[in-house]
Amino acid sequence: MQKGKINVQTENIFPIIKKFLYSDQEIFLRELISNAVDATQKIKMLVSAGKYKKDLGDISIEVKIDTKAKTLTVSDKGIGMTAQELDKYINQIAFSSAEEWVTKYKDKDNSNIIGHFGLGFYSSFMVAKKVEIISKSYKNNTKPVKWECEGTTDFSITESKRSARGTDVVLHIADDAQEFLEEQRILNLLNKYCKFLPIEIIFGTEKETKKEKDKDGKEKDVTVEKPRVINNTNPAWTEKPTELKEDDYKSFYRELYPLTFEEPLFHIHLNVDYPFNLTGILYFPKVKHNIEVQKNKIQLYCNQVFVTDSVEGIVPDFLTLLHGVIDSPDIPLNVSRSFLQNDSNVRKISGHITKKVADKLEELFKNDRENFEKKWDDIKVFIQYGMISDDKFRERAKKFCLLKNVDEKFFTFDEYKNHIKNNQTDKDDKVVHLYSTDPEAQHSFVEKAKDRGYDILWMDTPIDSHFINMIESEGENISFARVDAEVIDKLIKKDEEAPSKLNDKEKEELKKVFEEQVEKNKFQITFENLSEDDMPVTITEPEFMRRMKDMSAIGGGMNFMGNAPDSYSLVVNTNHPVIDKLAKEKENGKRNKTISQLIDLALLSKNLLKGEKLTSFIKRSVDLF
Ligand code: ADP
Repeated sequence: MQKGKINVQTENIFPIIKKFLYSDQEIFLRELISNAVDATQKIKMLVSAGKYKKDLGDISIEVKIDTKAKTLTVSDKGIGMTAQELDKYINQIAFSSAEEWVTKYKDKDNSNIIGHFGLGFYSSFMVAKKVEIISKSYKNNTKPVKWECEGTTDFSITESKRSARGTDVVLHIADDAQEFLEEQRILNLLNKYCKFLPIEIIFGTEKETKKEKDKDGKEKDVTVEKPRVINNTNPAWTEKPTELKEDDYKSFYRELYPLTFEEPLFHIHLNVDYPFNLTGILYFPKVKHNIEVQKNKIQLYCNQVFVTDSVEGIVPDFLTLLHGVIDSPDIPLNVSRSFLQNDSNVRKISGHITKKVADKLEELFKNDRENFEKKWDDIKVFIQYGMISDDKFRERAKKFCLLKNVDEKFFTFDEYKNHIKNNQTDKDDKVVHLYSTDPEAQHSFVEKAKDRGYDILWMDTPIDSHFINMIESEGENISFARVDAEVIDKLIKKDEEAPSKLNDKEKEELKKVFEEQVEKNKFQITFENLSEDDMPVTITEPEFMRRMKDMSAIGGGMNFMGNAPDSYSLVVNTNHPVIDKLAKEKENGKRNKTISQLIDLALLSKNLLKGEKLTSFIKRSVDLF
């Protein structure tokens, strides 16, 4: 028997290990299983190199709970360790790296550490009051050994009775960590961290019902108990793209997200080995209006070990809308996020993924535009978000980003500019893009614009306001206006104004009467000399203020705008015959009634007439007959 003291510099390291990782205790299981996987892969390598001539046999790793003894055991049939190796790897190397780890992160904010890789074997002391390692090396003529430590710097190594190659790590679970003796808790952890490990992980048994024929040839349900295998050892991303069919990708998606019923739109298989290693499959989900709930579904793996599903900072923000798996041994996992963003490998990986995503979208656009247009509504938020937030992606996406008009025709930027240039260039040479956020609600404005031969884009997602701003700021003499931002004559400013039929005195008098009938702080009353065939009164919503408000609604930039009141213009058409008549009307009652009616009609065509006002409008209208 060998007794000894682990060489410590850090003043008793165990309480520190136990305490400061409190929120992330569960990772001990991942660490132990990773070690077991490594040891198993090593023996497999020895076999393929011809250095181990015996039969490999079953190499599955088993996790067992013994509720009576209050132990949790991880058993592998890997290379095992001799007494000398135990001393070297566990007492010296593993300990000093655990010590180093503790010193490094002692004062750091735990939430900043991704994955906590590197603490290794000693993380078991987060949940165990005593740990035993019982191991037998694959090497001939070596004795089985047992290492024991009770979470102090004292350890002992004794001979053990084990006859089979491999290692058992037995954790005597501490009183305050009894949850790790619960089957369901462990099962959940295994499903989280081990789902795609390359070596079979077995935990307990499960029942399977099969159909069997009895002696009379009748089919019967027979239930058998069999070992419960946690993982798929060959997940799709580790296979060659040429070996996979469309259905394989789809079923892998279901494996990743068993609770999601929606199918992905398409996928990208990543496979890079220079200048860094990266494999993975990214899926394009249908991106809905509420993008926040769809974020953070990408799972990050390091050699098939689950690390995190929070890839913020690792890939550009817009890419976090994608789903799927990224696996890279080259992403430094045990560092803070701010460090990650500046890490050159991570930047290269992000750049590479961005490029691949753009390639895929361009390919889909070029090869089958019709299909691309069909999927447009589901991918547009993603593409627009990408263009707003990533310069490189924007340059690429200009070729395949589409604009949809209210008649559901699609155009690229260039196509669209050519399409409207003749009719929609204003007197300052700006090509004015008109849009509607809701063609139903803005129907009367849409129709008016169509009557002039204008084309109207359909921009109905919250991100559109940011997107429009981005295009305008690219400085290409383009401006955007919603169809109800101005009266039709002013929407695209062309020639000089028509003369007014009212004189200034008439305008002033009329203005007073209008003012009495609307909320002053909400409506700005103006008189414009419009065409006779335009409406007598129109309510518009100036583009700038409205767009700023829309933009602040989904965050970014002018947040204070969110609470700003809606501001409208009430435009009186001085050239409309009814207004002319009103100016000359001497009977107050009749004049006021007509004005109410005109204002309500204008409110109605902007969907602003509601409640009491709507009721009295209806009543007043019926009285007209
Ligand atoms: P790491 O896994 O990062 O090297 P650990 O502290 O987890 O650090 O383990 C230290 C060393 O102990 C390993 O590198 C390995 O050599 C040895 N070891 C740990 N667990 C096992 C095991 N189940 N079988 C064989 N060797 C092991």
